[in-house]
Amino acid sequence: MNLKISALEYAEGVQNGSISAEDFVACTLEQIEKVDEKIHAFLSVYEGAVDKARDIDKRIKSGETVGACCGMPISVKDNICITGEKTTCGSRMLEDYVSPYDATVISRLRDEDAVFVGKTNMDEFAMGLTTEFSAFGPSYNPWDTSLTPGGSSGGSAASVSAFECSASLGSDTGGSVRNPASFCSVVGYKPTYGLISRYGLVSYANSIEQIGPLSRTVKDTAFLLDVIAGSDPLDNTTVDSTGGYLSGIESGIEGKKIGLVSEMTGEGIDSAVASATSSAVSKLEGLGATCEEVSLDMVKYSVASYYTITATEAGSNLARYDNLRYGYDFGVEGYEFNSYIERARSKFGAEVTRRMILGGFVPSAGHAGRYFLKALKVKSKLSREMGHAFEKFDLLLSPTVPVLPFGIGDKIDDPVSLFLVDINTVTANLTGRPAVSVPFAVSGGRPIGMQLMADSMRDAELLQAAFALEQTVRLPEVPI
Ligand code: GLN
Repeated sequence: MNLKISALEYAEGVQNGSISAEDFVACTLEQIEKVDEKIHAFLSVYEGAVDKARDIDKRIKSGETVGACCGMPISVKDNICITGEKTTCGSRMLEDYVSPYDATVISRLRDEDAVFVGKTNMDEFAMGLTTEFSAFGPSYNPWDTSLTPGGSSGGSAASVSAFECSASLGSDTGGSVRNPASFCSVVGYKPTYGLISRYGLVSYANSIEQIGPLSRTVKDTAFLLDVIAGSDPLDNTTVDSTGGYLSGIESGIEGKKIGLVSEMTGEGIDSAVASATSSAVSKLEGLGATCEEVSLDMVKYSVASYYTITATEAGSNLARYDNLRYGYDFGVEGYEFNSYIERARSKFGAEVTRRMILGGFVPSAGHAGRYFLKALKVKSKLSREMGHAFEKFDLLLSPTVPVLPFGIGDKIDDPVSLFLVDINTVTANLTGRPAVSVPFAVSGGRPIGMQLMADSMRDAELLQAAFALEQTVRLPEVPI
């Protein structure tokens, strides 16, 4: 069984009878069994997935029409709820938490007969970009297991790259889908804010985060977006989907104007990443687009603004882990309020604790003007700058991450240097714009992804450009 085919090829194969869903899902589980000891993409694996796939084969044989996903094996980041399954968020705090309901993205995929194969590893509560902050140990990059797969949806990206599923769902607050997609050489998509329901996603910084697909091809991402996007009465920040992501994908980019963001391609950028970016520019021009530099002045403050805003939201969103509403149950004897809360919070790891402390401080009376309100001003100025850029350009280009995938342990002791790796991804979140990472190059065995951004609700156009760029590259296969 060839597990390397795309999700769409899988669906076609099942529909025309050349692939049995049961065999494919069984092989997928065998692949997990075989490689996940080294990769550690999964926190839980669903053996029952094979029974579900068998049922799909039966329904097809009896002439029933099945949903568009036809038993497609999908992995899910462990901060997205699936009924009756654990949702740990990579945290000891939720180690035994079982979700009583499905996230909207899960029910939409289920309605189209997707099969879930398990939950993937992540930085605790999605705070981080290497999966090293997972309470259950890091994931490893399938390209080279001494490297981080990126994060926080590192398990999701690694699982797609190592053929442990056909596609995955992650969440992207400041780059957590795109960064690991870039490091593992898969496609990662952060939609326009509101395009995908967040109902059933455990909140970290809910005013800017989105669920997004990770897949092996841009077409697979468009296909998944067609299934999961669109308004949801259970999340009142959602918007109607324009649809047609897959059907229009081959429209090309002839005549499109592309802005190369100077602040995302200058200082601190690795030379291999810089030369990949120049090559992306020539390839896009070769497809009939024009490229020109554009400056977004506020980008230089974006990381500071991002971490101030997200810590503040995290401080309030994570207040519910107080052992009363969510927690791990210990007796109340012998505690007064402070010692009780201290004990309740003791299961958070170092990074989450840092963010909670920061999140209590930056919006507090006497400090809010200096930190939180300033961060909000940067956010709105950045959004205005993006608005102006999109009056002139159809799309913006940058590398997804300014550096090559680095080694596990290399940056763990220096959170600020880690935060700076987010410089190219946080802008799309702070401004609500859609962004995609497309696998573009491999330098010395280390993948490089290119990021394209578009104006809000231009997701279809963005995917067309991503598809066009993808067609220009031939990459080596992951050495797994
Ligand atoms: N690295 C960023 C953070 O730690 C992004 C994480 C994310 O997108 N969830 O907040």
